[in-house]
Order: sequence, then C-alpha cells, then structure tokens
Amino acid sequence: MHVKLIVTDIDNTVFDWVTYYVRSFQVLLKEVESITGIPYVQLASESREVFTRHGSIEYPFLIQELPSVDAYYADDFDRMLMEAVDRGRKVFLKNAESMLVPYRGVRETLEEIRRRFPEVPIVALTDAPRYVAMWKLNKLGLLPYFSSVYGLADPRIPTCERNGRVKVDPEILLKHLQQSNFGFKGRIRILPDEYEKPGTRGLKTVLMDHSLDEDPADRGSVIWVGDNLRKDVGLGQRLGVRTAWAKYGVLSDPELYRLLHEFSPLANVHKNASFADGALDAPQPNHNLEEFSDLLKFLR
Ligand SMILES: [Mg+2]
Repeated sequence: MHVKLIVTDIDNTVFDWVTYYVRSFQVLLKEVESITGIPYVQLASESREVFTRHGSIEYPFLIQELPSVDAYYADDFDRMLMEAVDRGRKVFLKNAESMLVPYRGVRETLEEIRRRFPEVPIVALTDAPRYVAMWKLNKLGLLPYFSSVYGLADPRIPTCERNGRVKVDPEILLKHLQQSNFGFKGRIRILPDEYEKPGTRGLKTVLMDHSLDEDPADRGSVIWVGDNLRKDVGLGQRLGVRTAWAKYGVLSDPELYRLLHEFSPLANVHKNASFADGALDAPQPNHNLEEFSDLLKFLR
C-alpha cells in the first residue's frame, strides 16, 4: 500500500504490557502486604475498586487510595507516604525497569520507517492516560520515533476526604502537575474518556487531524496496528483504514491471566489483554503481523 499515515496502539503491540504490568503490580502489592500485614487478596480486590473509580488500571496513586491502607495509617499521612506508598512505588519501578522493553524488532522497524518514509507521521493512539502512555514510551526508548501521541486524560490527584490534603509526595506531585512531556517534540492530544476504544472517535480524531478523513482513498492509505481483534481491528474496519493485527500480542500465559483477574476491573480484563479469538465473527485484519517488523512488507 502507498502509506500516508501510520497509527499504532501501544500496549501489547509495541511491548508486552501484560507481563510488565501484572508482574510489577504483583510485587507492589506484596510489598504493601509485607509492610502493613493487610492480605494480598484484600489489597487486590480494593485495587479493582480504585481502578474502576478512576477509570484506569494504570492509576498511579493507587496505594494511598486503598481503604485498608488508609485505615492502617489513620491520619499519619507522612508515614503512609514514606512507607507503603514510597516503597511500593519503588519496587514497582525496579521491576518495571527490566520489563519495559519493546518487542523484538520494534525499534529497528520504526527507525526504518523514519528513514524510508520521512514524511509519513507515526502516531501512537492509546486508551491509557496520556501521561502514563508517554512515560512508558519514554522508558521503552520509543518516544522520539512518534510524531504525536493520543491518550486519555491525565490521572486525578488524590486528596483526603477528611481534610482535603493532597495525598502525594510533593516532589512526585510536582512532576505530574508540570505534566512532564519527557522532552517530546511532537503533538500531544488528550481525548475525552468517551473516545475510548472500541469507539471510533479516537482514531477518527487522528484521521481528521491529518486531513485523511474525507476521501475513502485517503483512509485506505492509513495503516492502523493493534493487538486486539475486536477492539483495534474492528474499529479500523469501521473507519475504512487498513488494519494490521499484532497477533504476537495475544496473551497465552494462563498464570498472568489469573493474576490480572485478581485486581483488574472485570470489564477491563479483555480490554487490557487480548486472547486467541477463534470466533468466526471476529473481525479479520488486512494484514497479520507475526512480528512488528512485518509491517515493512506492506508499506511503499
Ligand atoms: Mg493493545
């Protein structure tokens, strides 16, 4: 295809989100359990409530929002921030460090696309909060390859219901308030929550921003890459763009699935992990990618 625009999902498309997040979150909860004595299963189930309330499984201020942790520290905020929050955060980051690596060939492929098609924008479109998405792309070393990032609203800062005090360490709060963009030179767009996939409005906004929305031929020159047949491929088809299915992103480890289930909002399990979908009515992509680099075969 003659390509004018490349749009890609992030989680489970450019890197293994499920392994990264489930493993890092597991060590976080274990750490909080060992500090406070509150059982893991209880922390996991309370996490699900918090994620549901904040509309994101990647809500970064989770620990201080857990009711049992809040009760454990009573009004001793400083101790809570110093102990459970800080140590939980640190073990999460330490674990994440080794797991935030792109899938094989992703970096090289993006580099090659930049070289061969310097005028073609590469856009990241995700349901993750914009800040979290850019944080991950930055850690993955992929941020410089993108010309824009489209994500959902940034996380809400938690405050205490009793006295209104902000429940975040001042230094970390500052980072969030500055909405750090990690030195990114491209365009950042924050989409309303109701633009979440599998709705078409997020991708439609991307097309409109690039003036590729009107003409069906233009839309056919857009390639949209994602790991989820129903969510990603399906929505691309509805908009008439070419779809590439990152089939390597499908979750195959039942243990990770079980762990994800313990803390994920139930409606979100299928949002955050894709599964082998043998159903005959599953949307069929234009292109199957065994590896991200297969994308290069379809571009000219
Ligand atoms: Mg995905």
